[in-house]
Amino acid sequence: MGYHPGQKCPFSGHYRCANCRLEIELVRGDNFPPCKCGEGEWILIRPERKTFR
Ligand SMILES: [Zn+2]
Repeated sequence: MGYHPGQKCPFSGHYRCANCRLEIELVRGDNFPPCKCGEGEWILIRPERKTFR
């Protein structure tokens, strides 16, 4: 369900680390960064509406 560091971001929006709950904003095409907590899995919590379609 989540995305791992190094994967390409499929949708622009806000993502949250499932481990430490840090929130980041990414644009489609970006690579998911490694989270500061080490082993992070990013989960989409709010899509960016402007580029959703
Ligand atoms: Zn984290």
